[in-house]
Amino acid sequence: MSDIWHAFSSNIYTMFRQSWTESVRLKSQPFDSMFSSFPKKPWFYLICHCDRRFITTFIRLRSGHCLTKAFLNRMGMVDSPSCDCGSIQTIEHLLT
Ligand SMILES: [Zn+2]
Repeated sequence: MSDIWHAFSSNIYTMFRQSWTESVRLKSQPFDSMFSSFPKKPWFYLICHCDRRFITTFIRLRSGHCLTKAFLNRMGMVDSPSCDCGSIQTIEHLLT
């Protein structure tokens, strides 16, 4: 199974690299100046050498896409965005 997965992921990587290179050449000059070749590491590796789980959590906190009542209310999953104290339960409210 791992041989099949390795062949599959290698093929996907090659196809994506070709598509990316062509796309950059045709329409993304500013992006081309940032990345002159296809990056082997994920974009967040330029910022820090964090793992994907950390970056995912960080982005969810920054974007407010967390399991707060404000977000759950926006998604229609709870009736009220209010915290037990009466304020709107956002991530800022929970952290301050
Ligand atoms: Zn509260």
